[in-house]
Amino acid sequence: MKVLVPVKRVVDYNVKVRVRSDGTGVETAGVKMSMNPFDEIAVEEAIRLKEKGVVSEIIAVSLGVAACAETIRTALAMGADRGILVETDAELQPLAVAKLLRALAEREQPRLMILGKQAIDDDMNATGQMLAALLGWSQGTFASKITIDGDTATVTREVDGGLETVALTMPAIITTDLRLNEPRYASLPNIMKARKKPIETVRPADLGVDPAPRLKTLRVVEPPKRQAGAKVASVAELVAKLRTEAKVI
Ligand code: AMP
Repeated sequence: MKVLVPVKRVVDYNVKVRVRSDGTGVETAGVKMSMNPFDEIAVEEAIRLKEKGVVSEIIAVSLGVAACAETIRTALAMGADRGILVETDAELQPLAVAKLLRALAEREQPRLMILGKQAIDDDMNATGQMLAALLGWSQGTFASKITIDGDTATVTREVDGGLETVALTMPAIITTDLRLNEPRYASLPNIMKARKKPIETVRPADLGVDPAPRLKTLRVVEPPKRQAGAKVASVAELVAKLRTEAKVI
């Protein structure tokens, strides 16, 4: 069974995100970029399924600027078999990503696609769901456990009230939640080996998709600065402050 894993290049999760001075977006120049953490979990899960003998080939796909090839290399070093870079300088929004991934799914015919539940840069949490709708495939989002048996994928989902377990008929789209697994670090020998694994580059036009944005970002602003906390000496003082300063009681 072939699995396709989309991996997005995002600002590293350790970096303090700054808004560009002109308010048009987040500063990415000179900032450390890494694979979206939920996508690392997706790659890890695909590798574990391969180690169990359920999966035969893992294809890592990244969409965006040429540097996204580095993100694919990371997935190859973890254990993916080959990569596809959909190269474009266009700003990619979830609908365009979902259409491009649909075109790749039609070409590659995977039985399963594992995505992150969301990309930590713009927190859209939309691509997996849109892709499942476009393809007409089953979907299991926010997965914290995945078991594959024949043509059925059983997915435990993290929902507000607890856990929900769904049985999906494949082909299926699964999106990962944080507790699904702990991704491995790529070992040095595997990083070396990954250099020889193939990455194919295609352009959106090759896939017959116009990636032009449908949504316009009007303005991006930093969250308001939090005021420093203060210690109070007694409950009476706390109540007085809540009444007269915070005016919440
Ligand atoms: P989002 O809907 O933007 O929060 O992204 C959800 C998931 O879709 C991510 O975790 C990735 O698996 C996938 N994805 C979104 N954008 C891209 C991209 N440009 N390249 C590769 N995968 C992507």
